[in-house]
Amino acid sequence: MTTTTATEDLPVVVIGAGPIGLAAAAHLTDRGLPFVVLEAGEDVGTAVSQWAHIRTFTPWQYIADPTAEKLLAPTGWTRPTTPVPPTGAELVEHYLRPLGGLFAEHMRFGERVVAVSRDGMDKTRSIGRSERPFVVRVERHDGVVGQLRARAVIDASGTWSGRNPLGGAGLPAVGEEEAAPFLVGPLPDVLDRGRDRFAGRRTLVVGAGHSAANTLLNLARLSAEAPGTEIVWAIRGTSPAKVYGGAEADELAARGRLGADLRTLVESGALRLVTGFATTALEPTADTVTVVGETPDGEVRIAGVHNVAAATGFRPDLAILSEVRLDLDPGLEAPRALGPLIDPAFHSCGTVPPHGHRDLAQPEEGLYIVGMKSYGRAPTFLITTGNEQVRSVVAALAGDRAAADEVQLVLPETGVCSVNAAGQDTGAGGCCGTPTGVDGLEVPAEAHRARPDGVPAQGFTTGVAGGGAVALLALTDVTPTGDAGSCGSGGCCS
Ligand SMILES: Cc1cc2nc3c(=O)[nH]c(=O)nc-3n(C[C@H](O)[C@H](O)[C@H](O)COP(=O)(O)OP(=O)(O)OC[C@H]3O[C@@H](n4cnc5c(N)ncnc54)[C@H](O)[C@@H]3O)c2cc1C
Repeated sequence: MTTTTATEDLPVVVIGAGPIGLAAAAHLTDRGLPFVVLEAGEDVGTAVSQWAHIRTFTPWQYIADPTAEKLLAPTGWTRPTTPVPPTGAELVEHYLRPLGGLFAEHMRFGERVVAVSRDGMDKTRSIGRSERPFVVRVERHDGVVGQLRARAVIDASGTWSGRNPLGGAGLPAVGEEEAAPFLVGPLPDVLDRGRDRFAGRRTLVVGAGHSAANTLLNLARLSAEAPGTEIVWAIRGTSPAKVYGGAEADELAARGRLGADLRTLVESGALRLVTGFATTALEPTADTVTVVGETPDGEVRIAGVHNVAAATGFRPDLAILSEVRLDLDPGLEAPRALGPLIDPAFHSCGTVPPHGHRDLAQPEEGLYIVGMKSYGRAPTFLITTGNEQVRSVVAALAGDRAAADEVQLVLPETGVCSVNAAGQDTGAGGCCGTPTGVDGLEVPAEAHRARPDGVPAQGFTTGVAGGGAVALLALTDVTPTGDAGSCGSGGCCS
């Protein structure tokens, strides 16, 4: 038996049992390929469970992977028919857990991947490299370290555990580590699980995206019930308008309930808004922390803070991939080919074209980064896109090039990021409330390129040429210098 044959007999290792890791498992099952899913947590959807109390913007039909549905059908499972998007908890309960149950014998919980490499070869060695199996090193909860060999690795480990630091330069603010006891994560459950910690106390929310908006609104609900609950919101920008959506402009008649509710909250004076704030230091004392930042008007000190919710976005953990060969966008830390297609300066989720194994492939043959992690630091990832990523990747691993090359994302004209809690389309252009676009933006051609293989770029249409970026340009009356193309029904950025 040759080394190559031996490698082909090995399992594909999937890192992470979130929505995309499990969708990969479904496709591997469907293709009859041996596989193992390694999950650091004790259950499927460990990361999603951290935001169990948050309602997604995506209806069920765009969450459930079609192949997963096919495999689940014989068990009597049916996709929930409600048009109301699920919460994180519902996503785990009604989809991820039944799906994970199908592959119970392939799942290994409590096993954190700490490194990936090639069997007997460090990163510098090239000859015969692709014929060597991968080695995947895992650390179990009890501290025992083990290793397994794999024919391919699909890294679907997400970015949840990689919160961006508070510091304005992408580095931790001075004292951030020492202030850890006051940090409550990006999306604390202030109304239920964490209620006692927030009721009657002062919480600072830092960040200007969907996560910040959710936490601010929940804190406002809490303050109505628990007197003395104080809310401070600090943002880097000079205005929170991008988080509200385009409510003031005709071009963006609605930006979703979340933004509108947040605007009402801010205008009611129920919270203190600090704009132009770049965090520089955290100064903890016994009971509270003072958060210090630079603003255009000089230093501002936000004192007496009991909790800091850092809704500052996420970044991928690349340390586990440091011994394999990667080719990443230098800014976003996404696979290089994907970078221009997902750059949040130019794209909302509505305009990210579908992409598969070609855009996700790494110089390390057989290694793919998929799911939330494949977007690196870009916040616009959608489960629908990830389902298509793993369909294509697994088809490639199975040797079915035709299926692998055919990107099949079929999306409705209205954005799946923009359905409110009542199941109504809000027509929102940005992804999950994520602000997109910058003033004076020059849209690079590669951000709107046709697919390399000639497949036209299709994505969630936002009804606005060029998606969120151009929508905001309309607001700021700046004409993009690149050709954003025309946005017709079903396709943008082509
Ligand atoms: C609050 C919030 C709301 C969102 N709303 C939407 C929405 O409306 N629509 C939408 O399409 N998307 C939404 N997303 C974005 C995205 O689709 C989700 O984050 C989704 O869970 C990503 O799936 P994933 O499988 O890529 O990663 P994750 O769900 O993060 O799963 C990764 C898994 O890998 C495990 N893991 C991590 N590191 C390791 C390791 N080293 N070894 C082993 N296991 C590891 C984790 O424990 C986790 O279980 C939202 C995200 C957030 C945070």
